[in-house]
Amino acid sequence: MEYEKTRTRHVEYMAGLLPEYIDRLSWSRAKIEEEQRNALRSLLNHAKTNSEWHSKRLDNIDPSTATKEDIVKIPPMSKKDLMENWDSVVTDKRAELRNANSHLSKIKSDAYFLDDYHAIISGGSSGVRGIFLYDQHGWAVSYINLIRGFSKYLKLGDKTSAKPMVSISAFVAAHATSALAQTFSSSLVEIRHIPVILPIDDIVKELNSIKPDLIHCFPNILSSLCEKARLGELAIDPKAFWCTSEPLLPGDRNITEKTWNASVMNTWSASELNGGTFPCSFGEGVHISEDVCVIEAINSDGSPTPAGSKSDKIYITNLFNHVMPLIRYEITDEFEFQANQCKCGSHYQKIKDVCGRSDDLFVYNNNVIVHPLNFYSPLFQASVVLEFMVCQTKNGAQIDVVITDDYDLKGLEKTIESNLLRTGVLNPDVCIKRVDKINRSDTGKLKRFIPLKQ
Ligand SMILES: [Zn+2]
Repeated sequence: MEYEKTRTRHVEYMAGLLPEYIDRLSWSRAKIEEEQRNALRSLLNHAKTNSEWHSKRLDNIDPSTATKEDIVKIPPMSKKDLMENWDSVVTDKRAELRNANSHLSKIKSDAYFLDDYHAIISGGSSGVRGIFLYDQHGWAVSYINLIRGFSKYLKLGDKTSAKPMVSISAFVAAHATSALAQTFSSSLVEIRHIPVILPIDDIVKELNSIKPDLIHCFPNILSSLCEKARLGELAIDPKAFWCTSEPLLPGDRNITEKTWNASVMNTWSASELNGGTFPCSFGEGVHISEDVCVIEAINSDGSPTPAGSKSDKIYITNLFNHVMPLIRYEITDEFEFQANQCKCGSHYQKIKDVCGRSDDLFVYNNNVIVHPLNFYSPLFQASVVLEFMVCQTKNGAQIDVVITDDYDLKGLEKTIESNLLRTGVLNPDVCIKRVDKINRSDTGKLKRFIPLKQ
């Protein structure tokens, strides 16, 4: 009951902010930069005053006059830095990594942590377990960032004609997208969840009954949906598809656009920066949500990557979540900034579609594509797991794990095997081995998912 009360207040808070944040998408360049500058100063001030870890690093920074150009003086931070200094990075003394971990290992559905916070587990591609804490405002803005670019399909705020969005995805209580959808699904914008692990005919049946305008899904399901439409089994008229979590292949985009005359959009997001981008109305590429973050494209030697070239990594600064300041936080995704203003008229910086992470999909011999979520969700839900590496085998996987304490690895094997079985892998066989450390590749990068060479 307490959850429901807090949630209702939270939905109202989010709904109060929503119109302004939608309006921001049509702002001029000057207005976007002014908002970004003010939000940056406010974050730096809060971090310097309330975070023990950041206060030392921000010694050379005067938050009252700082600009985007000044932040290059601040050393970047990694996920390792965050996890090793978690308790002194966060700005609320009550929040401790130990408690956040124990909270996450218990929850079965969305839940609040320390009154009105949310804790989530990262599923990113860096190879190290990350726990991220969001305050009430940060969590609401996370949700707004994700949906505001789709407002015309959702008829947001219009109670009489608002349409539910369908999300064909994995439901994992400790992951950002699932948790956000649970916290904020309401009459303002309703999200109907269809588990991606259902057989395709069941997914088709659900879609036929809901008939959504907007469908959120992993790109790898698009071709199956198109095939069902071609056969006349799927009778829907969607206006747009919103893909996340995986690269969107041109073939999948083309066939989906042709099948329904619908827009197919792909956005980039991260547990550290929910809704860091929003879709371009022209289809390909995305815009950076610069009113709520700073993203720097960076070469492997730490120098800035010029527009028109692909970066090796990015540094993100999350401006909307003060409880866990992430300032110049490194993520190893490749970004390519566009030099000129986008033809769609938006004054937000545009980047090409982010194509990283394509190596993470496993394809088994009966053409079953398995999303890495099926592995990392159960692995990260176990709070003893620090790092892991999954090597695909003929009908399953060999998984090395670094763990902090004894754990029921057999039980974990069974959970992952049942995930694989539901996805369509026949007689799945998963073997988990405890190791002291995971060996990195020559480049020093940790590759967590190693596909079987066909
Ligand atoms: Zn655009």
